[in-house]
Amino acid sequence: MTSTPTSQTVRDRASAALLERARDVIPGGVNSPVRAFRAVGGTPRFIASASGPWLTDVDGNRYVDLICSWGPMILGHAHPDVLAAVQAAAVKGFSFGTPSENEVALAEEIVSRVAPLEQVRLVNSGTEATMSALRLARGATGRSAVVKFAGCYHGHVDPLLAAAGSGVATFALPDSAGVPASAAHETIVLPYNDIAALEAAFAEHGDRIACVITEASPGNMGVVPPAPGFTNALRRITTEYGALLISDEVMTGFRCSSAGWFGLEGEPEGGAPDLFTFGKVMGGGFPTAAFGGRADLMAQLAPDGPVYQAGTLSGNPVATAAGLATLRGCTPEVYARLDVVAHTIADAASAALAGHGVPHTVQWAGSMFSVFFTEGPVRNYQDAKAQDTAAFGRFFHSMLDSGVHLPPSSFEAWFVSASHDDAAVEHVLSALPAAAAAAAAAH
Ligand SMILES: *Cc1c(COP(=O)(O)O)cnc(C)c1O
Repeated sequence: MTSTPTSQTVRDRASAALLERARDVIPGGVNSPVRAFRAVGGTPRFIASASGPWLTDVDGNRYVDLICSWGPMILGHAHPDVLAAVQAAAVKGFSFGTPSENEVALAEEIVSRVAPLEQVRLVNSGTEATMSALRLARGATGRSAVVKFAGCYHGHVDPLLAAAGSGVATFALPDSAGVPASAAHETIVLPYNDIAALEAAFAEHGDRIACVITEASPGNMGVVPPAPGFTNALRRITTEYGALLISDEVMTGFRCSSAGWFGLEGEPEGGAPDLFTFGKVMGGGFPTAAFGGRADLMAQLAPDGPVYQAGTLSGNPVATAAGLATLRGCTPEVYARLDVVAHTIADAASAALAGHGVPHTVQWAGSMFSVFFTEGPVRNYQDAKAQDTAAFGRFFHSMLDSGVHLPPSSFEAWFVSASHDDAAVEHVLSALPAAAAAAAAAH
């Protein structure tokens, strides 16, 4: 077993033992692949508890958390208001399998924040949200092909796992074993931020395309915002060919602003996206997600319409209580704090890397940012793949040894919370120079 470089202050013995135990009964020892640290090497840290901006692992090490559960912990871990809401809901029962008021309140909260939304349906994960939105788009248009962009992640939905594909309008090969060619064959993968490629794909296949699905502002290849005019082009071209536009705000929703990326960029010329998907922040750390849009489209869903979609635990009363308390806690002060924390950390990271001559660029979507280990600008997946992943691995482990837990891949956003106080930020800043030096020494 490979092991993390350890120091006297940071040890991973209990984590390593748990990983070994886990590997016997869980594939790779983890329930989501990125957690296995394969991109950076070493032993993933098993977390015992978390509070505010801090994680504590099973060896007793503390880390400033820059993953924040990949976004949901926008208020920080175990926020008192969310905890109280969860406790109050839990004592009233865990799941009913019948409608309950929390579901209505959470749907109202979401609809009130994102202007074009009239209705949402609650589901249990971002994957379910995009899968259902796709089915709805296909049902509503009677067409089967979908367009997605290389480097955009929409959950592990069969036809959306096709990220490979070369050249313009190439029908994709599956990116995962177990995805039938027939599923991927209905997926057209295009380079992000490339309007000409989009026009060419529609010129050739336009009458077969049900929808374009895009991350509102991509965060799953690192943060790559849409170039000026790109979102407008998505709207113009889909409208021209009678296809729907699905804006996946699972990551950006309620994080980039109280109305997500939509709230920052505003309505595209020609009208809002037809469907939106949400997850992450709106569950406050519990499994709740949603998809929604105009009422006439949503009316296509069962029980009113012919497109079937369901869930035993959808709208779970405890999960919706957590989501509601989290969204209500996302005040203007919270967004202002996210801005300050993100900019302070990103500026310091950039300065440290520049000081050691490490090529890098920082990109933004509101307060969401990532540090690419390549010279920018990064406009698409191709650019992102030029990163020096070895340098990032050294940087990552130095930060970890100093008590800062970054996402264990250079293709991810760094997530902050409003609970990142000055002490936590200071702790991150103090770890950066050594990490930058480690990155510089990678080769
Ligand atoms: C995380 C994510 C998903 C998948 O959500 P899960 O809850 O992990 O299934 C889908 N789309 C985007 C943009 C995401 O960031």
